[in-house]
Amino acid sequence: MDSPLQVHTQLSNELGVELILKRDDLLPFPLAGNKYRKLVRELAEYPDRNALYITNGAVSSNHCRTLAILAAEMGQPVHLVLHEAGGPDVTALALLRQSGASYDIVAPSGIRQMIEDRTASYEASGYNVHVVPGGCHSPAGAAAYRDATLNVLQDVSADVIYVASGTGATQGGIAAGAQAIRPSTRVVGVSVARECSRGREAVLEAAAWAGFSGSLSDIEFTDKYRDGGYGQWTSATQRAVEVGWRNGIPLDPVYTGKAFRALLADVATGEVPANSTVLFWHTGGLWNALHAASRTRAADGAAKAP
Ligand SMILES: *Cc1c(COP(=O)(O)O)cnc(C)c1O
Repeated sequence: MDSPLQVHTQLSNELGVELILKRDDLLPFPLAGNKYRKLVRELAEYPDRNALYITNGAVSSNHCRTLAILAAEMGQPVHLVLHEAGGPDVTALALLRQSGASYDIVAPSGIRQMIEDRTASYEASGYNVHVVPGGCHSPAGAAAYRDATLNVLQDVSADVIYVASGTGATQGGIAAGAQAIRPSTRVVGVSVARECSRGREAVLEAAAWAGFSGSLSDIEFTDKYRDGGYGQWTSATQRAVEVGWRNGIPLDPVYTGKAFRALLADVATGEVPANSTVLFWHTGGLWNALHAASRTRAADGAAKAP
């Protein structure tokens, strides 16, 4: 399994750097992005064909949807403990039902208890329950990204990597991989939700799982583009999303748009010097792009003649 590595000639010329895309939005699985890479590794480490998987996340979570479809593909049951972040996403819920997942919808404060209750009751009915951490923030998830980074940096001498950072397993794995094979490569995590203090700690935790040695100050993590938190965005992030789409890169305002905005800003200020090799690790987010676009008022999105 791997995703394409592409040089984007047009944007490279425009920005004055060599821009390379790692297209994890194109991993061979629908709508999953980085959650596919993480979950394949997670499930491979629990090769119990009788296991029932339990995990948690928002109704529209890429993680929950990916686990539901993967479990369906393997013919294994999955139970999701969901919360409704940012209003009900009835389409996401319908897809989960179609994939055969069962679920509860609870307030965020009730997630932990519900996971415990469901685990106990499924175990009482004879299932081997494997609880997958939310977002697949797990050693397996981080290891998947460490190994992918070892491959990428064998082919590309990236000076800096930009990636959207949420629970931190993706960035942590990338940081561990970079340290192992090309320590001069900077790994910049762009927060999609958390403020620096908590976000950076989670990244370091995941990086350490994947073999990284270092301290908090070795993790580059910015919360400058979080736009108030998860699922929120500003017109500045929306503009970065549009730059992406107009150059054939499907971005979303929840995850990848924030990371791409940081990349554009750092190239513009010279924080990333001219002629650098810049790798944008595209983590997916197509679902989020579609959901966001459907909420954009027609007047905002009307095509204008050039
Ligand atoms: C989940 C997700 C992320 C964040 O990944 P973490 O490993 O949780 O930091 C980034 N981009 C997309 C599209 C995601 O779905």
